[in-house]
Amino acid sequence: MSERPTQPTGGEGEQEGYDVIVLGGGAAGLSASLFLARAGRRTLVVDGGQSDLKRAMLFNYLGFPEGVRGADLHGAGKRQAAALGATVVEGQAEALARTADGFEVRVDGRRYRGARLLLTTGKALEAARALGAATVPGREPRIPEAIRVDADGRTSLPGVWAAGIAAGVTSHAIVAAGDGARVAINLISELEGKRHVDHAVPRA
Ligand SMILES: Cc1cc2nc3c(=O)[nH]c(=O)nc-3n(C[C@H](O)[C@H](O)[C@H](O)COP(=O)(O)OP(=O)(O)OC[C@H]3O[C@@H](n4cnc5c(N)ncnc54)[C@H](O)[C@@H]3O)c2cc1C
Repeated sequence: MSERPTQPTGGEGEQEGYDVIVLGGGAAGLSASLFLARAGRRTLVVDGGQSDLKRAMLFNYLGFPEGVRGADLHGAGKRQAAALGATVVEGQAEALARTADGFEVRVDGRRYRGARLLLTTGKALEAARALGAATVPGREPRIPEAIRVDADGRTSLPGVWAAGIAAGVTSHAIVAAGDGARVAINLISELEGKRHVDHAVPRA
């Protein structure tokens, strides 16, 4: 099992290494990060702050009989990810590139390395295009294109996975969050070489 993530300490240009870089901290990315972090994977979430979730008022998200503001759900999700050990960095990912042993991305002048990449960028496919990931025509309203994924969430590129709207799921918050969780479980299962299950029970 991996060590817990180290907090950013370095100056401009310093590299920090992670097991998984989750690109996009909306419903899918934050949900994925909970599973990755709880599985002991050093997890970095890079979020450009444009999640559709922040614009929504949700009456169809399980567990909120009065409805919930998407912005509140997003804020709680970020706090939960950080509490579980993921590092959440706010900013637009730039200069995303494959390296000899994974991927590198720059955010506000700081470089981050990750062995694997999970694209949860919502409607924005620039990062997927920059890497050369195959895409397919979108089938949901206002989603012209999506990243091509297999049944587990792998893209056409080794080590690159995708989930949520970016991977073509129907544009609903609970579906995107569920897809992020599903793909994270598949990614963890591949790393562990066996099916991953994350169950917990209340303390007596
Ligand atoms: C106005 C509106 C109302 C909605 N109402 C509802 C509703 O009532 N019920 C419902 O179920 N759903 C609703 N939705 C849909 C729901 O919000 C989305 O389905 C959900 O947010 C999709 O999750 P996602 O993680 O795939 O994408 P998003 O939540 O959009 O997250 C994508 C994230 O990736 C980030 N990103 C992209 N590229 C980069 C990059 N290069 N570097 C760093 N970060 C990057 C973006 O900044 C963003 O934060 C609504 C959507 C909108 C726009």
